[in-house]
Amino acid sequence: MTKIVCTIGPSSDSVEMLKKMEKTGMNIARLNFSHGTHQEHETVFNRIRENCPNIAIAIDIAGPKIRIGKFKESVSLEIGEKVTITNDESIISTKNYFSVNYKDLYKEVKIGSPIFINDGLVKLEVLEIDGNLIKCVVRDGGIISTRKGVNVPDSNLTLHVPTKKDIIDIEKACELEADYLFISFVRDVEDIKKIKEIIKSSTSQYIPIIAKIEHIDAVKNIKSIMENCDGLMVARGDLGIEIGPEKVPVLQKQYIQMGMQLGKPVIVATQMLESMTIEPIPTRAEASDVAHAVFDGADAVMLSAETATGIHPVNVIRVMDQIIREAEKSELIFIPKCKAKNIEESIGKAAVDIAQNLSAKAIIALTRTGYSSQMVSKYRLRLPIFASTPEKRTLRRVQLYWGVKPIFHTYETDYDQLVYTCISSLINEGHLKDDDIVVLVGGSYLGIPRKTNTIQVFNTNEVLAGKH
Ligand code: PEP
Repeated sequence: MTKIVCTIGPSSDSVEMLKKMEKTGMNIARLNFSHGTHQEHETVFNRIRENCPNIAIAIDIAGPKIRIGKFKESVSLEIGEKVTITNDESIISTKNYFSVNYKDLYKEVKIGSPIFINDGLVKLEVLEIDGNLIKCVVRDGGIISTRKGVNVPDSNLTLHVPTKKDIIDIEKACELEADYLFISFVRDVEDIKKIKEIIKSSTSQYIPIIAKIEHIDAVKNIKSIMENCDGLMVARGDLGIEIGPEKVPVLQKQYIQMGMQLGKPVIVATQMLESMTIEPIPTRAEASDVAHAVFDGADAVMLSAETATGIHPVNVIRVMDQIIREAEKSELIFIPKCKAKNIEESIGKAAVDIAQNLSAKAIIALTRTGYSSQMVSKYRLRLPIFASTPEKRTLRRVQLYWGVKPIFHTYETDYDQLVYTCISSLINEGHLKDDDIVVLVGGSYLGIPRKTNTIQVFNTNEVLAGKH
């Protein structure tokens, strides 16, 4: 029921590996545009499309992430050492003098502010600002190297989505026909609107936006962001640095519940099975973390370095899949109480009620956009939801929704024929049997998106006998 997002990188971008990962449980492949060239991403994108056509591909847009410059090799900073940060990106950085890619950082940081590098492992404190140089002392030591991320949570930086690079990357994602855009460092609804405009001017297709929540402003503006995007990612890495790791678990639960209310997917990301980047088994805390995301009702859990650069991507997916399955066997998954506020939500709610009352074996959503299946998925009923659609894009997109399995049907104008084809193919594929009850939701005006207005209940025998 809970889906798996895998970040693709050097450990996982071969045809053989991608196929194995799909077989083991990958639902969504994530290409991280923070690293690599368009040419490299395009090659991997096309490889996934050709070899795993049912996998959704999400392109992750870097947003205004500050990064340190180029080093010849990684260096270790010790507590108490003095370092200077410059905005001159042409230099080769050294241990005590390195660059950042944000020209105005020296204007916006304050004396006394912390600067974090490398996922918060290294902490500096600003001592002095001397022209364009930021002079700091190391408070927490550690290793830094080329292009490691920088966080400055204490300063209200003016950086906003989209950067120039974001615009070019979004245009590329539209050209490739990505199934999702993950947008990093969203701060408010204006950011989302700007992204939507870029998408609109790049393609006639709708590309759903998943807002990565990793900035304190996004936490403040969560309601309007949630209403204006297509889903959220709890991007716990940067979020933990920006607001403190202790605040992340509560937000994780709250955001998943908000997503359920609106029927929008929420992904839990970062460090889920981090130790498995180099180890064959997870820590008990990691296993527990994945299980708790499942109990919270997350639509999906994400793997980052574990599958991008880790030693055994397939093994990590297998372990994640096992933890998910075990957690889903329990009665511990959060069941939301959602108010149905419009026709589509009411149909979804009623379909779930009927399915429970009649011990139905599945709910089928006849859907162009996937919306009808979202209106059912949000109730977290432990019953397969089949999204039956003629749209290839939708087949891939519903991979992100909790409990939703895509099935393809050809374009059809005769409604009865469509129901027959759909149910008989589910029987042929072994998903349904004779004499099963199924609940079907869809729109009575075939082909009009987001107009779920119909519930029908069938016995599979009667459908096959043409008696419905
Ligand atoms: C995160 O910060 O948790 C995250 C998912 O973002 P990224 O991996 O792109 O830095």
